[in-house]
Amino acid sequence: MGAPPQLTPEERAKALAKAKLSRQERAALKVRIKSTELTIPQIFEIATTDEAIAKMRVLELIESIPGMGKVRAKAVMERLNISLTRRIQGLGRHQIESLIQEFATPSGKEKGKLLVLSGPGGVGKSTVAKALKVSSPFYVSVSATTRLPRFNEVEGIDYHFYSHDQFSEAISRGDFLEWAEFAGNRYGTPRKAVEDALRDGKNVLLEIEISGAKQVKEKMQEALLVFLEPPTWEELVSRLEGRGTDSAERRAARLALAQEEMAAASFFDKVVINTEVEKVVATLIEFASAH
Ligand code: 5GP
Repeated sequence: MGAPPQLTPEERAKALAKAKLSRQERAALKVRIKSTELTIPQIFEIATTDEAIAKMRVLELIESIPGMGKVRAKAVMERLNISLTRRIQGLGRHQIESLIQEFATPSGKEKGKLLVLSGPGGVGKSTVAKALKVSSPFYVSVSATTRLPRFNEVEGIDYHFYSHDQFSEAISRGDFLEWAEFAGNRYGTPRKAVEDALRDGKNVLLEIEISGAKQVKEKMQEALLVFLEPPTWEELVSRLEGRGTDSAERRAARLALAQEEMAAASFFDKVVINTEVEKVVATLIEFASAH
């Protein structure tokens, strides 16, 4: 970096006055955003010709949208993969489009509900998810994983099976709404399919492990978290033991994990005991429509 420019007193006064004007202009714009006078596309339009607005931080802009505030604004930016220090002029085309979509005034279509079904491994989450897919119009997200396919699993239906490199690349592209490591493998929820379905008014189900559920709640406060519990601990042990698809070592690791996971129930919006699959499915549909 070269030395700072030497300014004459007049130049300095001029620069200070310009900065003051820019601040005033941005403050006035925020008032207009707060009063819903201006929409996001209109602001981006203004920024193409107005330097002061182009230099505004995106975080400041989002915070000014009614109902947002600091915490929500940060969560939205993280979810859309936009750096918290980004200015409007530094936004890429995709980021502009995703911001416009995020704050588009609803075109009569209500956003779908996001239901996250979690609970200890082996409790029967995937059976519930499959049953829900068959008996309701829920969009059931298909996760990506680095785990090898089990003999009965199909690419694109049970999972998208990724190599470790593919998974790392997907993380760095910001493709995942959440991802976590579980029993030596990585699992992640593809963001785009979920967001498209929600915007389309469809209810969405994620069937994921507990730390992923927590990540989703941090990013989307409106997500409804359901914890599926086994009827008894013995039932869970026998299910994990009876899993012919896993090795003995893997079953033991999963059992140890399940013990830890059972302690996480209090974080969830609702706890459902997995007595019968149909009952759980009915409870989930009811829970989504009640919110
Ligand atoms: P499995 O290997 O038995 O199919 O899944 C292991 C665990 O990973 C289960 O608890 C399942 O719910 C969870 N899981 C599946 N997909 C995802 C995902 O996209 N994200 C996270 N965080 N967990 C997942």
